Amino acid sequence: MSAPQPLVLLIEDEPQMRRFLRVALEAEHYRVVDAVSAAEGIRHMAGHNPDLVLLDLGLPDGDGIDVTRQIRSWSDRPIIVFSARGQDGDKIAALDAGADDYLTKPFSTGELLARMRVALRRQEGRGADAPALFTAGTLRVDRARRQVFVGDTEVHLTPTEYRLLALLVQHAGRVLTHRFLLREVWGPGRADQTHYLRVYMQQLREKLEAEPARPRLLRTEPGVGYRLVVDSDG
Ligand code: CA
Repeated sequence: MSAPQPLVLLIEDEPQMRRFLRVALEAEHYRVVDAVSAAEGIRHMAGHNPDLVLLDLGLPDGDGIDVTRQIRSWSDRPIIVFSARGQDGDKIAALDAGADDYLTKPFSTGELLARMRVALRRQEGRGADAPALFTAGTLRVDRARRQVFVGDTEVHLTPTEYRLLALLVQHAGRVLTHRFLLREVWGPGRADQTHYLRVYMQQLREKLEAEPARPRLLRTEPGVGYRLVVDSDG
């Protein structure tokens, strides 16, 4: 293999967890640099320019939300945060600060690796112009013509439904918080109106999902937001 393997910055203060993750990542041929604190994480971020960041939200010298904000002020590399159960507020704040995804401890390494693959693929596509045609499962979105198809059948969406879907497509694979979606689709004054989102998401599922009650594409992230699943990794 000619291209170097992706470099992962792991910011985690628990020694056991750090060791375990390093072994799991190296077994998949990722290169790993680790940090035990927020300050060291920021330093390594600047010094090593990693391809992806894994960030524990509970750090001894500062919180991961602040680390996310600092990294985002100069870098767009994917950030996946780890939260403990009961830290729901923290993970939502981290996503709103620019984190790409989250995992709640304990999580399986299979799940972590799948999320990392999605985040790294999305990062690769970021430099180029987004392709006009987006497909996921039976869904096809032609962004140039603003047309949506399920299989060969064109689906009519209202302007608001289309805006919501276009946003999910633009960030496919990534979890988007209620606040983010509401702000982008309905405007900053509506960021607390989560029922708007529930209603419109339901309408989209009715139009786009084979089984709207068991959505495969438009997934709910309980208490956090929604995610458009791009492939079996989800
Ligand atoms: Ca911790």
